[in-house]
Amino acid sequence: MTAQIIDGTAIAAKVRAQVAADTAARAAAGKPQPGLATVLVGDNPASQTYVKSKQKACAEAGIASFGHSLPATASQAEVQGLVAQLNADPRVHGILVQLPLPDGLDEEQVLAAISLEKDVDGFHPINIGRLAMKGRKPLFVPCTPAGCLVLLEEAGAKFRGANAVVLGRSNIVGLPAALLLLHRDATLTVCHSRSADLPAICRTADILIAAVGRPEMVKADWVKPGAYVIDVGINRIPDATRKSGSRLVGDVAYDEVKEVAGAITPVPGGVGPMTIAMLLRNTLRGAELADNA
Ligand code: NDP
Repeated sequence: MTAQIIDGTAIAAKVRAQVAADTAARAAAGKPQPGLATVLVGDNPASQTYVKSKQKACAEAGIASFGHSLPATASQAEVQGLVAQLNADPRVHGILVQLPLPDGLDEEQVLAAISLEKDVDGFHPINIGRLAMKGRKPLFVPCTPAGCLVLLEEAGAKFRGANAVVLGRSNIVGLPAALLLLHRDATLTVCHSRSADLPAICRTADILIAAVGRPEMVKADWVKPGAYVIDVGINRIPDATRKSGSRLVGDVAYDEVKEVAGAITPVPGGVGPMTIAMLLRNTLRGAELADNA
């Protein structure tokens, strides 16, 4: 069997087009333009690239973006002061503090300082807490895990009663992805670096989400025939055949696993494009929350 390839680029484009259409409809109805504020602390080149691509995506969707940069030497009070200013700014419906923050800054405190109604990354402890509780609804769900769920839905996965395995328990991907699957009534197993016999656990999975950051760790004989496999990993490995000398691979050995899985995301072109698409969707939601405040 060769798996259905889940085209994250196409699905993300569909989400972005819908956000752009909804934003245009807001403008036609005289409603405020959605606005995203980005906060970049320090000069990490990868973070600068991520922030730029988020701003570009905002512009394409008709969303305003307000870029703020602070030096790596910024104090906790300065960062939180900026967040407080953005909390109070009515043009801003979403605040994205680009992680990781430079050493010496308390990430938890910064994230907790973001207004719940503008927490478009979904990392505020109250939003995560609600995600973890039965019958509660967070205002926002973290973008990458939310994107994983959209990919599974679009591919036709059934959640209720399915065995779902999540590899990784990080705050930004593994744990929220696991909680989302639980909300959909999947039967859940979460694995991490101390889990025993990963291949056997993975073979029970009807839905497998890999978010470990280990190049091509998940092999074909770890995967149940027909399973839905979502590969969140982004790993750069050496490749002498490429001009750049390297290439990107996921946490799943794509070439062999696609012969066993029922559906699979490629890397690149799978989960990656969904993260920004979901950020745009969350920012639009922030504007809708402000309409009704
Ligand atoms: P973290 O390093 O924060 O977490 C990795 C998780 O994997 C941890 O829970 C860790 O276990 C677990 N783990 C590590 N090694 C093993 C192993 N050998 N066996 C089992 N579990 C293991 O990473 P992130 O969650 O931030 O990211 C994971 C991957 O996803 C990375 O490749 C990252 O680049 C990518 N990513 C992609 C995004 C996208 O937009 N596509 C967005 C965010 C991340 P323990 O808790 O015990 O340490």
